[in-house]
Amino acid sequence: MRFGPEEYSLNFLRERGYIRRRCISCGEYFWTLSPDREVCGESPCEPYRFVGKSLTRRRMSLREVREAFLRFFERRGHTIIAPYPVVARWRSDLFLTDASIVDFQPYVTSGIAPPPANPLVISQPCIRLVDIDKVGLTFGRHLTIFEMGGAHAFNYPDKEVYWKEETVQYYC
Ligand SMILES: [Zn+2]
Repeated sequence: MRFGPEEYSLNFLRERGYIRRRCISCGEYFWTLSPDREVCGESPCEPYRFVGKSLTRRRMSLREVREAFLRFFERRGHTIIAPYPVVARWRSDLFLTDASIVDFQPYVTSGIAPPPANPLVISQPCIRLVDIDKVGLTFGRHLTIFEMGGAHAFNYPDKEVYWKEETVQYYC
């Protein structure tokens, strides 16, 4: 599904001077502050630039990274939720939990049951086997077991918690 530019016409992007460009390599749209930028920056259009470079000022363990992620969203009004099982036993159509949103499908996302908190944040262990044949060949782009950090807000026709404006601000 491809969305038009009006879906991304966010104050956050406009106020900071971001412009929408189309990648000359893959054809996907992307936002940038550089008017000369021609590629989206995603692999394989551009090689990974973070390999071998530290993403943090000091070395952090997995536990510290997870805790920092959860606390970041907790400070911004999200309730921390314990992870769900990796076997999605509440789903008849799926065996393994392969994304954090799976925890809330179908009951919460269809409105049958309320979410355990709203908004919430979770660090969900996930197992994906759909492309297991690519693991190890794509230099880390395909994994079978990983932990997905998910910040979720569930909006209803009569109650919006937050949507795109706030989401982009959280992740920039
Ligand atoms: Zn691209």
